[in-house]
Amino acid sequence: MTEYEPVIGLEIHVQLKTRTKMFCGCELSFGEEPNTRTCPVCLGLPGTLPVSNAQAVLYGMMMGLALGCEIAPRSIFHRKNYFYPDLAKGYQISQYDIPLCSGGRLGDVRLHRIHLEEDAAKLVHVGESGRIHGSDASIVDYNRGGTPLAEIVTEPDIHSAEQARDWLILLRETLRQLGVSDVNMEEGSLRCDANVSIRPTGSTELGTKTELKNMNSFRFVMQGINAEVERQKALLEAGEKIEQETLHFDPVSGRISSLRSKEEAHDYRYFPEPDLVPIAPTPEMFEAARAAIPELPAARAERYAGLGLAEDDARLFSFEPEWGAYFEAVGGEPKAAATWVKELRTRVDGTEQVAPETLAKLIELVTAKTVTAGAGRTVLDKLVAEGGDPGEIVEREGLAAMEDSGELEAIVAKVIDDNPDIVERIRGGNAKAMGALVGPIMRETKGRADGGEVNRLLREKLGV
Ligand code: ADP
Ligand code: MG
Ligand code: ZN
Repeated sequence: MTEYEPVIGLEIHVQLKTRTKMFCGCELSFGEEPNTRTCPVCLGLPGTLPVSNAQAVLYGMMMGLALGCEIAPRSIFHRKNYFYPDLAKGYQISQYDIPLCSGGRLGDVRLHRIHLEEDAAKLVHVGESGRIHGSDASIVDYNRGGTPLAEIVTEPDIHSAEQARDWLILLRETLRQLGVSDVNMEEGSLRCDANVSIRPTGSTELGTKTELKNMNSFRFVMQGINAEVERQKALLEAGEKIEQETLHFDPVSGRISSLRSKEEAHDYRYFPEPDLVPIAPTPEMFEAARAAIPELPAARAERYAGLGLAEDDARLFSFEPEWGAYFEAVGGEPKAAATWVKELRTRVDGTEQVAPETLAKLIELVTAKTVTAGAGRTVLDKLVAEGGDPGEIVEREGLAAMEDSGELEAIVAKVIDDNPDIVERIRGGNAKAMGALVGPIMRETKGRADGGEVNRLLREKLGV
């Protein structure tokens, strides 16, 4: 049987977090009364003139520069004509053959382009059935109409549903840290279409693709792509052809249905928007965009991996940059710092509660074996609960590691005496039962004993 490789390219729409709309002065809407954030421009009244939003252009440039794209010296807007009530003008202003950004890359996926456009209004389909098809009526809320969008188009470099999801998560975090969007899939500020084809593994030709529209969660993106790959495999194995079409994935039933075939594809009759001047970024605009770009997750993760952190830790500290900064402030041996910063992170809501210098002191005590790791966690609990100095807490609570092996020996002997039935099980060949003695010993010593030493003493005394 032929093995197939999925080939996937994504088209992502991102609502930009500007104050006002793309081509008018209306403020962006966040759940206001429908049709209260509109004006003659975004309602498409005759005689009105659009003006490009400088902040949206800046955000577009920041995205392009952060993702290694070429910024066009002179990009232009086009009219994309279609008739539908979600667009009052009868066309959407978008970019066509000269987008703001071309090329670029994020992680292992190349970008094709990023362009600016305006969002359409929101249609709400009402009726007894409650479904889109078969609803009794549709009502329009023009508040969303004209919201600035950046459309990011990837090259078909993705080869599994999991890779698509992981890449989208990296993109979302990158855009969030750039501060250009709320990137919330549930609220629609990040929307994803997936273009999917399959080909015999090893082939370099592209198969016929289908386009899965508007999947609104990372899970649905995965499920939709997997379902579509399986559907295409079944077709090819039955000797049939893939038809180029636009599809809808229903996450409830897991079923894929056709929205329109190639024959029904729109001809948008794109033509240059005569009412807008080209975007020709000045050196000052480049400077402003560059200055607004922070270190982004991919670069940060790479830097942390270079310090020797495990991949998961590097990712954690780059997806939560406040903890990344904290980790760096702790300093010292990177792996030890990472371990203890993670210990702290599970105990607190934010990085403010325990100063990095304080955690660094605790790490020093553990590294010098002044306290065991277990006792170190007890010290950390105290630091979180009441603050203070690690060294003083160790003194006050008597948490210093045991130096006197006589003291430990006595405790081991006592626990053995106290638990004759467990001892019998161990001597009967159940080596695992020894764990039941380690707990009480650690409690008696307040975690001050070295685990290896405890095990050694137990074996010696029990003769196993
Ligand atoms: P269209 O003209 O249909 O919009 P594009 O060439 O502009 O197609 O590509 C749109 C998206 O589809 C891009 O993300 C691209 O990477 C992806 N794509 C193109 N061809 C294929 C294919 N054969 N299989 C999977 N994805 C593809
Ligand atoms: Mg397209
Ligand atoms: Zn308006």
